[in-house]
Amino acid sequence: EENKSLNFIEQIIEDDLASGGYKKEDLKFRFPPEPNGYLHIGHASSINLNFGLGLRYNAPVNLRFDDTNPIKEEREFVDSIKRDVAWLGFKWAKECYASDYFQQLYDWAVEMIKNGDAYVDSQTSEAIANQKGTPTEPGKESPYRERSVEENLALFEEMKNGDTPEGAHVLRAKIDMTSSNMLMRDPIMYRCVHKAHHRTNQEWKIYPMYDWAHGESDFIESISHSFCTLEFLPHRELYNWFVNKVSKPEDFQPKQREFARRNLSHTVVSKRKLAQLVEKGLVDSWDDPRMPTISGLRRRGYTPNSIRKFAESIGVGKRENIIDLSHLEFCAREDLNKIAPRVMGVLDPVKLVITNYEKEEEWLEAENNPEDEAAGSRQVPFSKELYIEREDFKESANRKFFRLTLGKEVRLKNAYIIKGEDVVKDEEGNITEIHCTYDPLSKSGSGTEESQRKVKGTLHWVSTKHAVAAEVRLYDRLFTVEAPDADKEKDYLEFVNPNSLEVITGYVEPSLKDAKELEHFQFQRIGYFCIDKTSSSEKLVFNRTVTLRDSWAK
Ligand code: ATP
Ligand code: MG
Ligand code: MG
Repeated sequence: EENKSLNFIEQIIEDDLASGGYKKEDLKFRFPPEPNGYLHIGHASSINLNFGLGLRYNAPVNLRFDDTNPIKEEREFVDSIKRDVAWLGFKWAKECYASDYFQQLYDWAVEMIKNGDAYVDSQTSEAIANQKGTPTEPGKESPYRERSVEENLALFEEMKNGDTPEGAHVLRAKIDMTSSNMLMRDPIMYRCVHKAHHRTNQEWKIYPMYDWAHGESDFIESISHSFCTLEFLPHRELYNWFVNKVSKPEDFQPKQREFARRNLSHTVVSKRKLAQLVEKGLVDSWDDPRMPTISGLRRRGYTPNSIRKFAESIGVGKRENIIDLSHLEFCAREDLNKIAPRVMGVLDPVKLVITNYEKEEEWLEAENNPEDEAAGSRQVPFSKELYIEREDFKESANRKFFRLTLGKEVRLKNAYIIKGEDVVKDEEGNITEIHCTYDPLSKSGSGTEESQRKVKGTLHWVSTKHAVAAEVRLYDRLFTVEAPDADKEKDYLEFVNPNSLEVITGYVEPSLKDAKELEHFQFQRIGYFCIDKTSSSEKLVFNRTVTLRDSWAK
């Protein structure tokens, strides 16, 4: 009986349970990143899928590092991956490394040589490629294919010990050079690489290829369902062939199944391409807040919840597609709206003088979060001179301008109703000061008749003498086009947005002075911001996470 609320992956598992092939206790999953870069938003889909299944079926999920290529892999990437998965809120059952299985894989390879299932090929990689054939033409067998077991064992041993130069030999599985699946035409199992590995150091001079290591790692860990992206569909046959070679028929066999890669608009989700952006200095680092990496999104102000919700809402599919960045932003707003304290900050200030305000200053009560009663309130200082946003004033305007104009009233948030009276301009005619009067009886929350008077707009503000200057980083899309890497003829780097970062000085209320890294705020009427890791109480630095689409009163 089909349950419509299940996605196709869950349906596969339900079918396996129903058919009796698998018991619930057999279920076990893994998330298998290669530590050759930082995790990105595409990985969040895979993480959410695998760890989500773990939660749904109360099954273990391993974090497995697919560390079979020392040329591109580093300790730093392992650490960042662990940090990011943990930050997303997931717990792995075991931390595993393909490199922990190098000896087992080697022993199995030796068995395969003995059984006539693998041989050492001493041709160049070009020659091997030239013999592969095409999907419609069979390949040609290597002249080394019929080497004796003894010779193969001796050469493989030499390869292992580093006695042969890189590129001199490879170990290939002996399958079928006429197979309609190109991957079955004697695929390479091992190559010689003499670079040190970040975990096994100089111990190994040969490294297993993905296809040889992945299914075997799944088998060793008793993974029941091994989910990967669709480009691995043709690898499934080889995955099964290798697992069959190393297991007995009665052994528990892992099962590879595929789902569609998720792409995000106006960015690239490929570690290789993201690495290029870092290397070429087009962004500052892997965690640059413009990057679609988990660490970049975190620094930008995304919450774990918003990323999990995003992954959950786009779900799993069988067809590749591009998710619009606005959907990710929507998920950020939804979560931040619930948790981010409201504060006032002015990003493009113009001075407002309240000519009839006689007091030195006063502290007014401001609600921290209308969405969360427990968030309480704080005091904000008010005085005769304030900053408001330059765009919130026009000398004269039509009826649709619900902000400050001469002769009209607006409310200052948490404070008083004011009326525009006059402006002061410099020689070029730019407004340097706006003069206004206030109604002392109109204080917010005072309950007076004056305070309940309806005015069209409400403005945010900060008191000039109390305001704290802060660096504010405003981010735009990293690429100017929706799919920068869609056209294989073009270089995606051409589409990098040269204006993806604008740095300005803003003025914020003094309650923010001691705000700490990753604290989130809603700058009222502007957007969501978070404290950057470079921020200090001497110099506050804010990252704009996302603009506020809806403001409470423009
Ligand atoms: P990249 O090209 O960014 O290096 P990858 O697939 O080579 O991606 P892995 O480290 O092998 O990166 O990825 C770990 C897991 O995450 C794999 O199962 C992979 O299929 C999955 N994954 C990677 N990118 C995406 C994506 N864009 N959408 C969904 N799953 C993804
Ligand atoms: Mg991979
Ligand atoms: Mg990759």
